[in-house]
Amino acid sequence: MQTIDNFNFAGKKAFVRVDFNVPLDENFNITDDTRIRAALPTLKKILSDGGSPIIGSHLGRPKGPTDKFSLKHILGHVSELLGVDVQFASDCVGEEAAVKAASLQPGEVLLLENLRFYAEEEGKPRGLAEDASDEEKKAAKKAVKESQQDFTKKLASYADCYVNDAFGTAHRAHASTALIAAYFDTDNKMFGYLMEKEVKAVEKVLKDIARPFTAIMGGSKVSSKIEIIENLLNKVDNLIITGGMTYTFTKAQGGKIGNSIVEDDKMELALELIQKAKEKGVNLVLAVDAKIANDFNNDAQTNFCSVNTIPDGWEGLDIGPETEKIYAEVIERSKTILWNGPTGVFEFENFTHGSRSVGEAIVKATQNGAFSLVGGGDSVACVNKFHMADKVSYVSTGGGALLEAIEGKTLPGIAAIQGIPY
Ligand code: AMP
Repeated sequence: MQTIDNFNFAGKKAFVRVDFNVPLDENFNITDDTRIRAALPTLKKILSDGGSPIIGSHLGRPKGPTDKFSLKHILGHVSELLGVDVQFASDCVGEEAAVKAASLQPGEVLLLENLRFYAEEEGKPRGLAEDASDEEKKAAKKAVKESQQDFTKKLASYADCYVNDAFGTAHRAHASTALIAAYFDTDNKMFGYLMEKEVKAVEKVLKDIARPFTAIMGGSKVSSKIEIIENLLNKVDNLIITGGMTYTFTKAQGGKIGNSIVEDDKMELALELIQKAKEKGVNLVLAVDAKIANDFNNDAQTNFCSVNTIPDGWEGLDIGPETEKIYAEVIERSKTILWNGPTGVFEFENFTHGSRSVGEAIVKATQNGAFSLVGGGDSVACVNKFHMADKVSYVSTGGGALLEAIEGKTLPGIAAIQGIPY
């Protein structure tokens, strides 16, 4: 397999798929540029060799071209970070993009407009009527898959080589993340530095697991994390299920959760997970107390109580001190730690305490020799907010991709470079 270190980009144009899906405020200022910075080593290597990067990325989930999700908003910042006046093509597969790519000189950079302005990037039909028949859906899918080939070919035609540095989308078989690799031979496609690091971190967790292995899964919904939770039950010694998911488990076991977030249709599943954990000898750790609020906002009135006795009109927005202690004990005696998802509504300053305490326990464990991997937008936001990013072993830029990799799934973005089926 080709590696970025061994490749000489001199005089070459490289299509570089990055993940510049950064958060923007209402004035289009970047509120967290971690993802852009994460791709800089790759882009700088190409430039210092005398190559020209053609950058492709998505931003948000547009349903078509829209100013809100235009990558032009980040052009200035990318230029600043790279120290190069980055050129921009306002349509990733238009005439302008082809001309600008063709005339790109060594040391110059071209940023393409949001790849997801085209349905072909994801290969999923758009604009289908809600009452579309199965036939219509099938036909639309076929049509977009067909035009996806042209789209992919066009993107590939701009460059001599392909570099994938977008771990965040590695679990998607999209045009620019996987399909495009087929247009380059083995010697001319490779991972970027970020991708290399991510792949290594996942391998570390999967291959030589030092035990106890503890996973902390937080976030709002059981439904979005069920698969990974089930898979983790085969791998971990301790599984902390926290955040909004707590209350589905509590209610399923007969607790009184007030107005806390809950998925009533997942209560049975929660009970099954508790049973499965027992059968597999996994220590499933759930919250015992909560910081409750009488409204879903930062300045609501607060109190602490057992997770089972939350009064009507109140909702659990973070874990309580007893739970913090229990989590910390488990985490601090772990040797491998995976953290995905906050313990509460960490966006509200008054409900960050639990997430911070989990972060502190992970830092302590890491200082004692544990390997700690933090992934998923919200947990990464937490470690950044608490200035802990350099005190854990690895902060992944991938959320879904990281979890799928940990589940042992083949990630198309990785497989396509390695030349294995996906
Ligand atoms: P997810 O997107 O599923 O990873 O969940 C992350 C979101 O879960 C964050 O935006 C948190 O605010 C939210 N969350 C965590 N705990 C709670 C809770 N107790 N009630 C409501 N939302 C929560």
